[in-house]
Amino acid sequence: MPPRCTPQQALSKIEAVHGNRYTLPFIEKEYVNSTSSLTCVCNKHGEWTATMNCLVYAKSGCPKCFKESIAGKLKLTPQQALDRIKALHGDKFEFPYINEEYTSCKSMLTGVCQIHGEFRISFGAITEKAQFGRKKYGCPKCWAVQAVSVRRNINFTNSKYF
Ligand SMILES: [Zn+2]
Ligand SMILES: [Zn+2]
Repeated sequence: MPPRCTPQQALSKIEAVHGNRYTLPFIEKEYVNSTSSLTCVCNKHGEWTATMNCLVYAKSGCPKCFKESIAGKLKLTPQQALDRIKALHGDKFEFPYINEEYTSCKSMLTGVCQIHGEFRISFGAITEKAQFGRKKYGCPKCWAVQAVSVRRNINFTNSKYF
């Protein structure tokens, strides 16, 4: 157990972790030890309660700020979205309208296959699922070709090991 401190010391420890993003208007009354429930006020989202342990030792803050920071990390710009597609598929497909079309991983994008022309696919489908190499992704016509070669590989593996 860390040594007990005064409400003022507790407050300065909280500020050392979180800066002045949060205020604790009732800490003088509420603070007894590191497990007391404290009323915290987020500049942006308002009140929630947390203990000194949560705020300082676990460094957790406003739960809504936390959610926003996760959402912010997941949200890509159209250019980042394109980079992620290119990282998986190389230059096989072009996405000429991605700047207008991309808003989230559920956005439907117009892809252009160098061989087969335009197709429609969601960003989620062309990136996440592609990593598992199992679901339909990319140009559906390329997929048809690939599915045949995957099946051949399976036959090859079977004949080698069984
Ligand atoms: Zn907040
Ligand atoms: Zn194709």
